[in-house]
Amino acid sequence: MEFDVEKYREDYPILSRTVAGRPLIYLDNAASTQTPRQVVNAITDMYENHKANVHRGVHTLSQEATAMMEETRRATARFIGASSTEEIIFTRGTTEAINLVASSYGQLLSEGDEIILSVMEHHANIVPWQLLRDRRGIVIRVVPMLADGSLDMDAYRSLLNEKTKVVAITHVSNVLGTVNPVAEIIRLAHEAGAVALIDGAQAIAHCRVDISALNADFYVFSSHKMYGPTGIGVLYGRRSLLEKMPPYQGGGEMISHVTFEHTTYADLPFKFEAGTPDYVGIAAFHTAISYMEEIGVERIAAHEEDLLNYTQQQMLTIPGMRIFGTAPGKSAIISFLIGNAHHYDTGLLLDKLGIAVRTGHHCAQPLMHALGIEGTVRCAMALYNTRQECDRFVESLRRVAAMLQ
Ligand code: PMP
Repeated sequence: MEFDVEKYREDYPILSRTVAGRPLIYLDNAASTQTPRQVVNAITDMYENHKANVHRGVHTLSQEATAMMEETRRATARFIGASSTEEIIFTRGTTEAINLVASSYGQLLSEGDEIILSVMEHHANIVPWQLLRDRRGIVIRVVPMLADGSLDMDAYRSLLNEKTKVVAITHVSNVLGTVNPVAEIIRLAHEAGAVALIDGAQAIAHCRVDISALNADFYVFSSHKMYGPTGIGVLYGRRSLLEKMPPYQGGGEMISHVTFEHTTYADLPFKFEAGTPDYVGIAAFHTAISYMEEIGVERIAAHEEDLLNYTQQQMLTIPGMRIFGTAPGKSAIISFLIGNAHHYDTGLLLDKLGIAVRTGHHCAQPLMHALGIEGTVRCAMALYNTRQECDRFVESLRRVAAMLQ
């Protein structure tokens, strides 16, 4: 079946607006994807027809809202191939999910225990572990990368040892587009007796994720990068580990019984969901998952791969073009610099031509340091981008290159 991109584009009113007097070309999808009308309608429907606080109400609205939230949990578990809804915890985003694991699982670690990260991690998968290091005296080890931006697996193997307790590595780099061999990374972590957390923020909307096949212990991602509402994230956690872990935050919803002397906690997943969740967003997140399923994650991936190859080939004909991250099978993210032009200037000029890209260190300063640069311009594709947009992007880049060099 043909990938009818023009038909999908009609789902996104924002794609018909202009910026700087030109039709918007949105290529900042690694930061946030746009939201289809179906998801916006689901948010409106929740506010207009079902809004009531979840889980404690006997009244109809509360029961409807609760059912919608729990339906999303089931859909999320199915979407990632998790075996139980008890293993799906709603958070504010990837960042909160990693903080939850670092903070809670971290309490099971002792001084001298080691955690392995990679040089291409987002700050969200670095700083929570540093906070833990400062509290508990754990040691952080870092896997370097090879020249093409792929992970140095030999170095990874040599870092693993009996002190390794956690391996926390990104599935797809938000800068380089590198798709890491996470199944192998997890297998090796398990062999060493460690648990593995995979940061799926850049993978979840761009390839099929099957938790059972990967055998991940923790897998985290954000709704706003997968056509869903902002403010929602998911922590998948292996039940046997979540059961051992102490609560992350205390409050309503996460307790079984409270006295001033002693509190017992709710069962999974509620033990980790203190306070009123964003139940409106969670309900609408279900629509985002169904939307992706209807189009087909594999078909989206194939479309993006076509755009990636098409665009990258043309970009390389621009004098001075430097692309960072050329690992085989990379995701549809292109980080680049034009000669010595500042990334900020390139981004600003592209904006004047109606093109949205991201510039800067992309919350990956250690990676920038390893590359010997301060930042890049990043273009990242999504299901609604077209070859014509890529043509206009490359044409605009050519103009910008001529102006800046
Ligand atoms: N990890 C990666 C790889 C990311 O790209 C991002 C988002 N830029 C995050 C973590 C953080 O996600 P969020 O801001 O949604 O918590």
